[in-house]
Amino acid sequence: MRYLVTGGAGFIGSHLCERLLDDGHSVVALDDLSTGRFENVAHLEQRTGFDLIVASVCDTSVVEKCVIDSQAVYHLASAVGVRLVVEQPVRTIETIVNGTDTVLKSCARYRRPILLTSTSEVYGKGTRIPFAEGDDCLMGPTTTRRWAYACAKALDEFLALAHWHESRLPIVVARLFNTVGPRQTGRYGMVIPRFVQQGLAGEPITVYGDGSQSRCFTHVADVVGALVALMQHPEARGQVFNIGNDEEISMLQLAERVQAVTGNKSEIRMVPFSEAYTAGFEDMQRRVPDLTKIHKLIGYTPKYRLEQILADVITEQAASLTG
Ligand code: UDP
Repeated sequence: MRYLVTGGAGFIGSHLCERLLDDGHSVVALDDLSTGRFENVAHLEQRTGFDLIVASVCDTSVVEKCVIDSQAVYHLASAVGVRLVVEQPVRTIETIVNGTDTVLKSCARYRRPILLTSTSEVYGKGTRIPFAEGDDCLMGPTTTRRWAYACAKALDEFLALAHWHESRLPIVVARLFNTVGPRQTGRYGMVIPRFVQQGLAGEPITVYGDGSQSRCFTHVADVVGALVALMQHPEARGQVFNIGNDEEISMLQLAERVQAVTGNKSEIRMVPFSEAYTAGFEDMQRRVPDLTKIHKLIGYTPKYRLEQILADVITEQAASLTG
């Protein structure tokens, strides 16, 4: 098969491209290298069947050519990271909504199956834990910029599902919970690469708020495996699935774990949210996925525990420091 992976030079996209090539497929990665990085796919450029096209997912003619040229589409291109979302809200909304609309229109015209990656952010500040796919999405006010991301991604989901309802375009929506692994950068605020970088450098580990807020982290290899299985399963079409890990940890506990495993004597520094982010930010207290639905359909259970996730990130960052 020949796949189009939008956002193919991003953190998750590059791992997906690699997996598809390993499975014997050919891949065209479409990425404008804004939050994606060429280094993420540099090692793939030599492989047969891999093409990188540097262009925006909002560029209609390029997207159309790429869609015609492939048999199925993984749509991962998106604005990412809380920091970017708060600092550049216009770019965030436009990339998410216009990009997805462009890709879906081409897929609809040429009848290409598409898997769209969404986010656990769409659950918003729901407090019924764990979050199941049929739960309400509880957004905050439009004056709080963080919610623009959740709303834009929710609109993407609506649009994909609308294509399914109106013309039976084969779509699948995957809601990803905090995904971590090699190649993820802390530049856009992601907590694990940031803590590890701080820990390895012997710098203070910055815990925002009181550190009681918790998250569940998923290894990128588990996510990629689930994306591939969902794309292949005919019964996944027209549906939404959580992909995540249900091992929960508070940010203070996470900082202590990183402090212990990086071995340096980094202190833990508590940073108020008002200092960590610009005004217009609201953090989520807990975010745990209900994995019943995806387990039932494709037998998904996360293989990687937090210990392994941290080990992989530390190994990569330590190698880049010495290399
Ligand atoms: N966080 C933190 N210190 C940092 C970066 C993030 O304490 O240096 C916290 C952040 O406030 C949130 C959690 O870590 O509660 C996860 O943040 P991330 O941006 O990785 O993902 P989110 O789940 O917020 O999308």
